[in-house]
Amino acid sequence: MATPHLKNYIDGRWVESASGAAFDDLDPATGEVIATATRSGPADIDKAIEAARRAAEAWRLTPAPKRGEILYRAGEIMIQRKDDLAKEMTREMGKVLAEARGDVQEGIDMVYYTAGEGRRQFGDVVPAELPNKWAMSMRHPLGVVAAITPWNFPFAIPTWKVMPALVLGNTVVFKPASYTPMLAVRLVEIMDEAGLPKGVLNLVLGPGGEIGDHLVTHPGVDLVSFTGSSDAGAHISEIAGRLLKRVSCELGGKNAIVVMDDANVDLAIDGIVWSAFGTSGQRCTAASRVIAHRGVADEVIEKVVGRAKKMRMGHGLEATTDLGPVVSKAAQEKVASYIPIAEKEGATVAAGGKIPRDGALAKGFFHEPTVLTDVKPNMRVAQEEIFGPVTAIIESASIDEAIRILNSTKYGLSCSIYTQNINNAFRFMRDAECGLVYVNAGTIGAEIQLPFGGMKSTGNGHREAGRAALDVYSEWKSIYIDYSGRLQRAQMDTTEKPAS
Ligand code: NDP
Repeated sequence: MATPHLKNYIDGRWVESASGAAFDDLDPATGEVIATATRSGPADIDKAIEAARRAAEAWRLTPAPKRGEILYRAGEIMIQRKDDLAKEMTREMGKVLAEARGDVQEGIDMVYYTAGEGRRQFGDVVPAELPNKWAMSMRHPLGVVAAITPWNFPFAIPTWKVMPALVLGNTVVFKPASYTPMLAVRLVEIMDEAGLPKGVLNLVLGPGGEIGDHLVTHPGVDLVSFTGSSDAGAHISEIAGRLLKRVSCELGGKNAIVVMDDANVDLAIDGIVWSAFGTSGQRCTAASRVIAHRGVADEVIEKVVGRAKKMRMGHGLEATTDLGPVVSKAAQEKVASYIPIAEKEGATVAAGGKIPRDGALAKGFFHEPTVLTDVKPNMRVAQEEIFGPVTAIIESASIDEAIRILNSTKYGLSCSIYTQNINNAFRFMRDAECGLVYVNAGTIGAEIQLPFGGMKSTGNGHREAGRAALDVYSEWKSIYIDYSGRLQRAQMDTTEKPAS
């Protein structure tokens, strides 16, 4: 079978980039090329933004319930294609099939939830302080949204951005990660089939490092919604900030699971293994730290190490696989580079730590599930995002110390505590500096009806998902209607007798 070729989608048509250049889309479990994709440059970005701007006025004036209906239709198509989408995802970025199905399901959840906003988008109607005056607020779309997304949730994360943007009346230029162009194409195909008018959603494939600045600083883009690494997020914020452009950033994490001495340890072990090694540790919410109370630390180490050593690596499409590859050779090398760093700082590699060099695994980008012990809170492996199947176990002596260690990184995305003590749980919920807090569950498992995002350097204060996402993709407009027929001065004429 010929290798599929993936194109841009601009103004309702599938088109090649102006240069005609292409890049490869690899299966990270085998290193094989599964598709080629057109490689865009600034001229393609310009065309996509022009198309989005042309479509913006008619889309803004399309009644929001109608926009929502298109999203509902897209959700129906996604349900029909869930299995195919999941298989393609596993081939394209490596996560095991069950998790890929979860990624698609999260997209479906987001589409249905957001479609309902077509009939909500509530504003406020409040009493005015002056007589015969009306006061209310309503949402107003921003215009053209640039949605820049990572590869680790190649279906769900694009829906987190595209769906709220669309339902609120914005048009979109979507720039997906270059490791996952196929899933991006599939999402756009579905939106097209669901009846989205041309130009409302445009797709541009190509290297973010080269075309990103042009997209971000283009005067035709009103909002940049970015999920990815902290370095790229800081750069985007800087160049967009100079233009006073709106920017929403969801960035890295150094998430932790706290296990107290009163915890159900076996339950905690299940949560640690799932949170540390799910998606090969490449979730922004992955548990890359475990903070174990010294009363249970030995048991936690022994059990986590035992489970890690038993995990079977392989292709994510095989039912026997527990751990798929990481996304690329560069990612594999980055993960491996932290092992000598950990050892030099005094940590012990208690499980894993190597790249498999034999058999079928040697062809893909695998890294053994790795557990580091004797880790101190200030070591690099306890502070920096590794984004692979590596977790660092740190000992603590009390709930106070555990919370101090939890909050000692620059990130603040997700955390959890395992405890049977309600006082510990409430202290933790109150004092954790994280956007997501779990009690007696791992650090992964967010649902789309609540806000998603992080404190501190994990972001810039915005949230995706839930009602909070609406604030990213719209401006508030406050409206006053005076029907008194005379000049009424706010804050000054309030003591006068009411007009009859
Ligand atoms: P990157 O920052 O490398 O890439 C993310 C996206 O940004 C890709 O589409 C990429 O394009 C693009 N990009 C890269 N450089 C630029 C630039 N200078 N200007 C504009 N766009 C650019 O991150 P990864 O894809 O490696 O994703 C992993 C990171 O994402 C981790 O740090 C993880 O924690 C974070 N993440 C955060 C989440 C959250 O909600 N907080 C959720 C998921 C991931 P290209 O692929 O072509 O390079």
